[in-house]
Amino acid sequence: MKEITIVGAGLSGLTASILLARRGYRVVVLEREERVGGSPLYHPSCQGSPLRLKAMLNYLGIDISPGIEPIREMREIAGGRVMTLDPGLIHAFFFERGPRPTSLDSHLFKLAREAGVEFRFNQPVISMEDMAGLPAGSIVATGLHFEGFDALGIPYLTSHHLTYKATCDPDLNFVHMYHDTYTSDYGYVAAFRGILYVHLFNRRRPISQENGNRFAEQVAHFEGIDIPRWNRFSFPLPAASVRTPRLFASNKILAGTLAGAMDPFAFFGLHGGLVSGKIAAMAVEDKERAWREFRRCVSPYYAAYFAARLKEFIPGSLTLIGYRSVFHRFERKRLAQKILVEHMPGYRNLFP
Ligand SMILES: Cc1cc2nc3c(=O)[nH]c(=O)nc-3n(C[C@H](O)[C@H](O)[C@H](O)COP(=O)(O)OP(=O)(O)OC[C@H]3O[C@@H](n4cnc5c(N)ncnc54)[C@H](O)[C@@H]3O)c2cc1C
Repeated sequence: MKEITIVGAGLSGLTASILLARRGYRVVVLEREERVGGSPLYHPSCQGSPLRLKAMLNYLGIDISPGIEPIREMREIAGGRVMTLDPGLIHAFFFERGPRPTSLDSHLFKLAREAGVEFRFNQPVISMEDMAGLPAGSIVATGLHFEGFDALGIPYLTSHHLTYKATCDPDLNFVHMYHDTYTSDYGYVAAFRGILYVHLFNRRRPISQENGNRFAEQVAHFEGIDIPRWNRFSFPLPAASVRTPRLFASNKILAGTLAGAMDPFAFFGLHGGLVSGKIAAMAVEDKERAWREFRRCVSPYYAAYFAARLKEFIPGSLTLIGYRSVFHRFERKRLAQKILVEHMPGYRNLFP
């Protein structure tokens, strides 16, 4: 029986592990943390993405429904003006991430164990020597962590984040997106399954105390939530090279964020994590076929990366005017569908 090593027990690593184990491979997953569910700095968290659940099930052959639920309420708050979106129009779903038994990570972990995958926890693979020591054809799926990018020499941008996590009423289910001059990207407040998650990020530079305070003031005003203290962190974004996305690096197969499977505008990476997990598993058996499939899924990313890099040079105030005029010019349904579903990189390609 052929043995495959996978580094990282996140969305793409777990997906690849299940598919390979079901095809009869002996699969060993090396994970840096002491359990499944990623970094305690990031999770538990409620993440969101447009998703066509049935099409994803057909594509992956893995049922992800226990870890996800439809988003019930969505708002867009641009420059202090509030607009209500219909989450049903864009098939918006919450994905529970992290170590709780109800998370998608735990559900995939259970499926992987049932398929016979072996997990080795507390096994960080962080240096170039560590990577070189892995067998050729190993899958590396280390997500939004600098070490994987550095050890494989993959370029990245650094994005900067402020977060606040708390518990909330388990019946709350909403996401409110914030656009304003305190970031050239966006912030959001989300509540799902008792997790309250407030997040602001910016690709261009670290977020100043003043801009963090301005976002906190809006959150207090619109949500009635007081943020006592921000957690700060940064992570790599795979948008730094025209050679991104990529499926192979040296003699390894890449998956998830490390493969660049993360849309550069809205940062939707859940979708890319699952899909690229399947493609990485395919690459173990047939590199050519996997490469064609990878190109098919990520071809719209290249233009989007270019546009996202250009956007970095546009001042936040102009971006905000753009958001406002877009929201006020287009009819709600058309806007939501166009931006979040039809134009989400890779999405239309995959599920025509
Ligand atoms: C705070 C936060 C909020 C997000 N919100 C959204 C959202 O709302 N919508 C969306 O679409 N996407 C979102 N994302 C992105 C999404 O989480 C990723 O795109 C997705 O998880 C990518 O899957 P992956 O398999 O590449 O990485 P992950 O799922 O992150 O898994 C990586 C795994 O590798 C392990 N690992 C890391 N380094 C090593 C190492 N050196 N050795 C061994 N193991 C290692 C980690 O512990 C982890 O278990 C968010 C990400 C974060 C961090």
